[in-house]
Amino acid sequence: MTLLAASLWLTPVWSQLPPSSPVLPSLGDGADITLSAERKLGDRIARELYRDPDYLEDPILDEYLQNIWQPLVKSALARGDLTPELMERFAWKILIGRDRSVNAFALPGGYLGVHLGLIGVVNTRDELASVIAHELSHVTQRHIARSIGDQARMTPWLIGAMILGALAAGKSAQGAQAMIVGGQAVAAQSQLNFSRDMEREADRIGYSVMSEAGFDTQGFVTMFGKMQQAAGLNDSGGFPYLRSHPLTTERMADMQSRQQLQTPKANNVDDDLVQAMMSARARVFAQPGVDALRAWANEAADTRIEQLQAPKRMGVLYGAYLSWMQLRDFRQAKAILPMLKKAAAGHAHALRLVQLLETELAFKEDDMRGAVNSLMTIANQATPSWQRPELIYFSQAASRLQTTLPTSDTSDLLAKAVMGLQRSVLQNPQDGQAWQVLATALAAQGRPLASLRAEGEAQMARMDIGAAVDRFRAAQDASRKLPAQMGDHIESAIVDARLRHAQGLLKEQMMERQDR
Ligand SMILES: [Zn+2]
Repeated sequence: MTLLAASLWLTPVWSQLPPSSPVLPSLGDGADITLSAERKLGDRIARELYRDPDYLEDPILDEYLQNIWQPLVKSALARGDLTPELMERFAWKILIGRDRSVNAFALPGGYLGVHLGLIGVVNTRDELASVIAHELSHVTQRHIARSIGDQARMTPWLIGAMILGALAAGKSAQGAQAMIVGGQAVAAQSQLNFSRDMEREADRIGYSVMSEAGFDTQGFVTMFGKMQQAAGLNDSGGFPYLRSHPLTTERMADMQSRQQLQTPKANNVDDDLVQAMMSARARVFAQPGVDALRAWANEAADTRIEQLQAPKRMGVLYGAYLSWMQLRDFRQAKAILPMLKKAAAGHAHALRLVQLLETELAFKEDDMRGAVNSLMTIANQATPSWQRPELIYFSQAASRLQTTLPTSDTSDLLAKAVMGLQRSVLQNPQDGQAWQVLATALAAQGRPLASLRAEGEAQMARMDIGAAVDRFRAAQDASRKLPAQMGDHIESAIVDARLRHAQGLLKEQMMERQDR
């Protein structure tokens, strides 16, 4: 707790930041801020979040969230709630914060933050989709821009500086006091700012977006039920989402009238198993402390779990395995594996996640050969293609093997990894983690120029333009000093172009800072 409290995601500002509104004092009135001003403001905030130690990069949870986020964005676009222009101009990125509180919030520019605490409390993916669809609708309806626009006397840069100033203050003990005061003021003011009408609009549009994306709207209803229950507990400290989203009678009535027309969908057991596993993962990764880990680890040994419903039992087993792994008791973790496999039998997605656990354990044991072998098992089964978590893990293992235990086949494994990653970043150039893993793989292959460029791209994806310029310059130096390898002349032309682009962005940022 004390360690975490110093970090960004748990600072008073973050937990008091309303899910959908930036931190804004109330001043005057005015027009909406422009798309590009909102995007720049969001980029600036996102850059700080990416740098924060509590920003979580987990290929498995990332994939799980993307599988909810992408269909919702597509549905909003198909329905016309999201205009093609906004789609093009905003980031549409979802970030996970390693925070136990139940919260989600939209930031300017199409960034969305989700706390592990939220993933940990939902029972179905539809419940999570309902919160994300609501937040997404705040962005598509430009509620944030309208709120910022209302503050005509404050420039977006000043608002950004306020948000960042509050975040930075939380980084030092001396600043903490100022931050708590600032955080409280901010929370009080922003509530004036976020209208009930905006909340109801986000509910209404979020509901339709979710429905047309193929989720069961019953998730909206059960999520409301959860919020109501938490409100009744009189302890909403761990549920900041509730503080910024009070369940008014109007919201409840709207929901009931919408839901009357719907017929609930049939349960998909595989989906429910996966959800239970991901909730357990979120709870374990929220750094609950050794005592909680021990308690969860021991739950698997309780014979009463046999009486639990399948998803609940799966959640207990998955959580116990991960807890033993975090406690570094690998023998105990392995003992749970047969039970996990039995619970997942016949459910392809759940089974794949169990197999990925074996890969993760091999990593923890520093057994890279074991990691590669377990990934090969997954590849040989019904999986249609090499998916992102497998690709990331495979590449990390292959890079490590090549640098520590090179044998006749390690360079082939590494070449496969590099090919897969290059294809992946071509399709999704904003994938910072894939670029970073590619940089490591290229370095292991002995290709410094390409590796430095990939590092630059990773920094670009995380909005750290200064660091990107630094990496691209290092790549340029490398291309002058080192003997040229095959393909290097193309790579070095790309580096020159990327460096010019990044320098242009950096210059623009500096000029904006001067005019604010
Ligand atoms: Zn809202």
